[in-house]
Amino acid sequence: MILEFRDVGKRFYKGAAEILALKNASFSIAEGEFVSVLGPSGCGKSTLLNLAAGLSPPSYGTVLYRNEPVTKINTRVGYITQRDNLLEWASTYENIVLGLRIRGTPKARIRELADKFLAMTGLTDFANHFPAELSGGMRKRVAMARTLIYSPELVMMDEPFSALDAHVKMLMHEELLRIWETDRKTILFITHDLAEAITLSDRVVVMSARPGQVKLEVPINLPRPRDPFLIHTSPDFIRLYEKLWDALKEDIRRGDNV
Ligand code: ADP
Ligand code: MG
Repeated sequence: MILEFRDVGKRFYKGAAEILALKNASFSIAEGEFVSVLGPSGCGKSTLLNLAAGLSPPSYGTVLYRNEPVTKINTRVGYITQRDNLLEWASTYENIVLGLRIRGTPKARIRELADKFLAMTGLTDFANHFPAELSGGMRKRVAMARTLIYSPELVMMDEPFSALDAHVKMLMHEELLRIWETDRKTILFITHDLAEAITLSDRVVVMSARPGQVKLEVPINLPRPRDPFLIHTSPDFIRLYEKLWDALKEDIRRGDNV
């Protein structure tokens, strides 16, 4: 297993109030797997990623990365956070190569990698644009390129496409699947969109409302390569959608969005 959450709990304190964000959450991800975590707002999805990234420790339980407890910042994972955090004053190119510059990668190698990842994410013609001049989908592609360029073993994506309209989202799914099918990185993807989870994943982990617990794990045995524009009509897709919706629906009213 590349990543394993074992009976993980996480409490937050706000003044005297205690919030239990996660409760006995357990699941794991194998090398090369594409796993989505689906759950209502506030159920602790982002908290899970922060634990895996070593940004904060669990209150109890263990987070294991390649069988070792995560005790400090986990530099082997790439983390595409819920907000894209692009540097507004830097071009697409500069945003993408910043991490490599910090790591001291040689200039020629930076150039070579940047060209490759700009092309892979369809941003070659926008290399000199600033984030404010890009569409929402393009900004997400910059955030993806910026993370993928340093070749993390595990890529964690926190609701990366939730702000995009339905059609742009499908284009992004197409793009992400194409990239994933070429280099088969391990992906831990967070979403509250059922169709998105089914379209992309090998397995979907459904969380309950806060305190987040793993409620159900569903393998997605749809054949690959998948076509995000057509997959919705297959009877297997519909069957999986109903199964996931059944698990999720009762927790949505208990989520933090009402
Ligand atoms: P999700 O990503 O599933 O929407 P989060 O993991 O962001 O949920 O948050 C889970 C719960 O923990 C929420 O109730 C949130 O308000 C709370 N929470 C998250 N981070 C903090 C924090 N740093 N301090 C206090 N409460 C937090
Ligand atoms: Mg979140």
